[in-house]
Amino acid sequence: MHPFSYTRASDTREAINAGRRGGRYIAGGTTLVDLMRETVEHPETLVDISRLPLREVTATERGGLRIGALVTMSEAAAHAKVRALFPIVSEALELSASAQLRNMATIGGNVMQRTRCTYFRDVTTDCNKREPGSGCAALHGYNRTHAILGTSNDCVATHPSDVAVAFAALEARVLLQGPEGERQLRFADFLLRPGSTPNREQAIRQGELITAVEIPALPRPLKSGYLKVRDRQSYEFALTSAAVALHIRGGVIREAKVAAGGVATVPWKLSAVEQALIGERPSGRLWAEAAARAADGARPLQYNRFKVELLKRTVERQLRIVGEME
Ligand code: SF4
Repeated sequence: MHPFSYTRASDTREAINAGRRGGRYIAGGTTLVDLMRETVEHPETLVDISRLPLREVTATERGGLRIGALVTMSEAAAHAKVRALFPIVSEALELSASAQLRNMATIGGNVMQRTRCTYFRDVTTDCNKREPGSGCAALHGYNRTHAILGTSNDCVATHPSDVAVAFAALEARVLLQGPEGERQLRFADFLLRPGSTPNREQAIRQGELITAVEIPALPRPLKSGYLKVRDRQSYEFALTSAAVALHIRGGVIREAKVAAGGVATVPWKLSAVEQALIGERPSGRLWAEAAARAADGARPLQYNRFKVELLKRTVERQLRIVGEME
């Protein structure tokens, strides 16, 4: 591990000032410390933000929810307001990582976590994300777990978060505070596709701090759920996943929020699936027809062609589970 200095911020302003000078924020440390040990990352200064007052979960007007950036994954999963308003968020969190990691890792850190592409973490291989311009070992390497959507010729790594898939489906916003004040970004604008700059993963500015993730109110009743398909039943990343939320009134689907994980470089909003559902009556045929659109635009690699069909089946199954909930 490279030498680094450490400072603990006592308030948000102090943290932002340190961040503006190049300090890296750390809270749970469950991604960053690993990457420092593996010499993938070598920050000069760590700014400990774990004592900032960003640990609240609050209901917003008309039934939305704001989850503070320093709420841990396990706190958020167990929180009564999260479970009551958006149980899909609790489900996605509980299917993530391990209990020990969930007790340490924060919501802000989860959103900022870096890819689990094995080549990214192996400093002896070429990786444009780790070292811009060096190449991508995964493109012609063993790419079974890599992305089929949102890829570029420079990077095909998946985004690893489960809860970010639920946030993307629900059209959450990331609340930021930085040297130039506060701003909000839609999830779809916050996490960046790799393009020709895979080293740039979030639309965050120097010194900016995530203060919360806010989920907007949705019409009720809302049925929802998260399905994760993986090689083993615990402590494993998704091969595919589906986050589904449906508002059904008078026997007709009025709102549909659907996103997929494990298949794309960012949590993948399935707009074509949503459009196929809205205004229709639930049926087995509808689930299959809508899910058939899930892999539109997919560009599979040598070892991950199976994900195209697996994604469609994952989405169809989760549409059926959620659509047929009592
Ligand atoms: Fe690096 Fe992305 Fe290629 Fe993985 S897929 S080796 S993270 S450039």
